[in-house]
Amino acid sequence: MSNTPKKYAVVGNPISHSLSPKIHQSFADQFNLKIQYGKIEIKPLEFSRVIKELIDEGYIGLNVTLPFKVEAFKICDHLSQRAKYSKSVNTLTIRGNKIYGDTTDGPGLVKDLINRDVILRDKVLLLIGAGGAAQAVMYDLIQKKPTIIYLTNRTLSKSCDMAKYWQSHADENKVKLEILPPKEFPNFNLIINATSAGLIDNSSPVSSLIQGDHWYDMMYGKSTPFLNQSFEQGASKASGGLGMLIEQAAASFFIWHKLKPETKLIYKELT
Ligand code: NDP
Repeated sequence: MSNTPKKYAVVGNPISHSLSPKIHQSFADQFNLKIQYGKIEIKPLEFSRVIKELIDEGYIGLNVTLPFKVEAFKICDHLSQRAKYSKSVNTLTIRGNKIYGDTTDGPGLVKDLINRDVILRDKVLLLIGAGGAAQAVMYDLIQKKPTIIYLTNRTLSKSCDMAKYWQSHADENKVKLEILPPKEFPNFNLIINATSAGLIDNSSPVSSLIQGDHWYDMMYGKSTPFLNQSFEQGASKASGGLGMLIEQAAASFFIWHKLKPETKLIYKELT
């Protein structure tokens, strides 16, 4: 058997900030696995060509981040059910000459919420945002059977499209989908920020009237305006998206290596 480390990478644009190489290396170390995990920036419009080149160079697993998750979905020969529903792929596995696509954003979010003792079943959720990240977590949020998921977004028509798209999956799981603002403003058990508001300015995507038990910002790496607002509103619990990032990486690691890494150590190291 060859001793050459197997080749993996995260691809996106920009990519220099990515924590994925560090996270995957730390997982591999737990099992004494020798891997090579890099980060590769791909120019807009060059995604499928570069992926083909990487496959020719011997890469067997690729994580995909902004802005290529939909393009990754389109180039796969086989898709998991979750990826099919979500129309988003963040984990490519190359076997033979075929590309297998999956998305681990939803499982990553849900696992991080479980780690934080956040219960979803029979609860009232608000999901803010209708971009790639919001779409990618809907499948798993619905599977956890909250009573109702309210959807809202700066461009509200996108939330309406999202509700229409997910309606049948929600019906199968007896979950109600509603667009905010509702007539009576509810008190949410969980508010999830899946927007990029605050990334370049200091804005929060919600009004000051909102009430929630747990506030969860998918953004990570700094004190976000959304989390600052949660403290001002007296939220009892609030968390950023680092745990989700680590858990989605753990789920990708499992797809490739069939091994479940411990995630607490790297979480501590990165906070
Ligand atoms: P997209 O570009 O696909 O979507 C951006 C969303 O943010 C849209 O709903 C957009 O609304 C909204 N938005 C942008 N600016 C503002 C603003 N100033 N006020 C209100 N709403 C705004 O991005 P993604 O969905 O891929 O990513 C969203 C966030 O989730 C990012 O911060 C990303 O880092 C994070 N993320 C975290 C992950 C993790 O593992 N922790 C995984 C994936 C994403 P509109 O439709 O009106 O433009």
